[in-house]
Amino acid sequence: MNPVLALARPDILELQAYQHATWDPSLERMHANEMPWRAQGDNSTAGLNRYPEPQPRALVERMATLYGVPAANVLVGRGSDEAIDLLVRAFCRAGEDCVAITPPTFGFYKVAARIQGAGVIEAPLSSDGFALDVPAVLEAGRRARIVFLCSPNNPTGNLLDEGGVLQLCRELATQALVCVDEAYLEFTDRPSLALRLAEFPNLVVLRTLSKAYALAGARLGTLIASADIVGLLRRIIPPYAIPSSTVEQVLALTEAPQRAMAAARIRTLIEERTRAAARLGGINCVAKVHPSDANFLLVEFRDAGRALEAGKAAGLLVRDFSRAPGLANCLRISIGTPAQNERLLAALERL
Ligand code: PMP
Repeated sequence: MNPVLALARPDILELQAYQHATWDPSLERMHANEMPWRAQGDNSTAGLNRYPEPQPRALVERMATLYGVPAANVLVGRGSDEAIDLLVRAFCRAGEDCVAITPPTFGFYKVAARIQGAGVIEAPLSSDGFALDVPAVLEAGRRARIVFLCSPNNPTGNLLDEGGVLQLCRELATQALVCVDEAYLEFTDRPSLALRLAEFPNLVVLRTLSKAYALAGARLGTLIASADIVGLLRRIIPPYAIPSSTVEQVLALTEAPQRAMAAARIRTLIEERTRAAARLGGINCVAKVHPSDANFLLVEFRDAGRALEAGKAAGLLVRDFSRAPGLANCLRISIGTPAQNERLLAALERL
């Protein structure tokens, strides 16, 4: 057994999982209190009158193939948001345990911890370049159950130093899970840390179809971890978590042609990111364009409020981070189509 399981909440380790209706497609279903007929107009393959398969085998296998890991190491959930929530629930006792985060970073780690009643220890990224402060994260990690790292980081856009992340995994081996959120990894040429899972039993990697695969509305996130951690989380994920419509659409939309299209679009997006960054760099109202390995740019303006309004006046919404610690006057711009980027750049140039 993975010794890291000892970090989980004792009551969760002992929990008797919910017994959902047996999944046996060779038999006709008279055991789950479903209607025997489909709703009028239900053209789905499985029939929406039927509960979906818990952790659908075909979907788990598809994600395992997509991310190059064994199926036993895969948990699928409703977005990586659900995976974050499950991790915190399983490993943090309310009022006692903590998570560690590295602000400025993705906001849901802290919210998930607060919902669970867990504490939050902050080990901020450096003010020059948003790099990991490894000794500070180590110190925080020794007091936490889970260290959340985001690489490339949202909202700053930079990859974290891989050596630093692996050092944290190594030094916190029996003390904390190190959860590396790779939501934006496809926009880089860095290999996933999921490929190093066998070396680091406390490593958890999060992937999502919401970004590079253009499937945010399908809500499909993947947690990759040791089989023991996946087994524990499978016991606490709500029964029938993934809707059968999502299962069918994701299986259809992650075939080879869609993957080739995603790769081509990623290349276009990176070209647009490079073009937008260069143009923004030459605009008077821009103080700094932060380097990005993701599908967005973090941009510091001389007056973020005016830039935000200029975008809105052009019918375009960008994200205001100007009140986040360390991000004064910063806006996060998701790279759009060339036409959208052009409209935004023109509006900012007019400022
Ligand atoms: N992690 C990061 C870093 C994100 O930016 C997001 C979405 N903004 C998520 C996780 C959640 O993604 P989803 O639930 O759509 O998979």
